[in-house]
Amino acid sequence: MKPAPFIRHVPRTVAEAVKILAEVAAQDGRVLAGGQSLVPIMAFRLAKPAHLVDINEIGELGRIASDGKVLSIGANVRHAAFHKPVVEGPLGALLAQVARRIAHYPIRTRGTFCGSLAHADPASEWCLVAAALDATMVAHSTRGVRLIAAKDYFKGIMATALTEDELLAEARLPLPPPDTKFGFNEFNRRAGDFAMAAALVTYRLQDGKIVDARVGVGGAEASPRRIAQAEAALNGQAPGDKVFRAAAEAAAQAVEAMEDHQTTADYRRDLVRAVVRRALEHSTQ
Ligand SMILES: Cc1cc2nc3c(=O)[nH]c(=O)nc-3n(C[C@H](O)[C@H](O)[C@H](O)COP(=O)(O)OP(=O)(O)OC[C@H]3O[C@@H](n4cnc5c(N)ncnc54)[C@H](O)[C@@H]3O)c2cc1C
Repeated sequence: MKPAPFIRHVPRTVAEAVKILAEVAAQDGRVLAGGQSLVPIMAFRLAKPAHLVDINEIGELGRIASDGKVLSIGANVRHAAFHKPVVEGPLGALLAQVARRIAHYPIRTRGTFCGSLAHADPASEWCLVAAALDATMVAHSTRGVRLIAAKDYFKGIMATALTEDELLAEARLPLPPPDTKFGFNEFNRRAGDFAMAAALVTYRLQDGKIVDARVGVGGAEASPRRIAQAEAALNGQAPGDKVFRAAAEAAAQAVEAMEDHQTTADYRRDLVRAVVRRALEHSTQ
């Protein structure tokens, strides 16, 4: 099938883009970034936007930069930009490890980090990263600029706090301290498929004990999130098999696992237990 007819707008600046969005949002005007989710949906006529605001020619959105505290990722930064560390330290290494698990290489050369956050698939790896690391989303509109914390941003399956006339211009990830350890694990039946469950963990060691634990789980619930019960099971403990298993069990018990055509809630809960344990076992820097 071919998409329904639409008008494509090609702004050159963010100001121009949000002006057009404000005019066309009411007619289901949408931002077009990498097109790796939107175009297939349009081809199946599951979406019939009358207007597309193509942001690919906006040079200022291709920026990726660190000020030593925060990594800023512009809306045109592709998944493939992260194949090699974009910043020194654990964050660059973490993003490189995660990027390789997103879809397939050609999709990674087009799809964008911010497009994934805007699309908000529950199993999106970048959404998990944003939730686990407490990212800040920077939304622009003709009304101004709005900063949205990750905990307030994800609103359910493919639902976010963005309004229809807002452009997600940038995502900001805090740089973890250099001694931060991290582990990532996801389960899917075929390489390149969306994860059926995924976990991202980070922590530091102080006098041999875990501090600042973060346990993010994605793909299991409507939105990725940090699991406080699993983090509590880690903090203050020496890392090891017993503690990792206790944290994994806490995560499995805490999630309200989704059911779908592939899995039961019980099976998905088992997957959460497995991916959290494996992420912890492989945690390194
Ligand atoms: C076969 C296949 C396998 C895939 N596997 C995975 C996977 O394993 N993991 C994964 O995470 N993703 C996967 N994807 C999706 C892919 O990562 C997409 O690139 C991503 O979901 C959306 O990014 P995009 O830049 O292509 O956005 P687009 O497709 O251009 O847009 C997606 C949606 O977000 C909106 N949007 C995009 N950018 C912005 C913005 N800056 N501001 C406001 N709204 C915006 C659009 O209007 C649209 O509604 C897969 C895709 C395919 C086709």
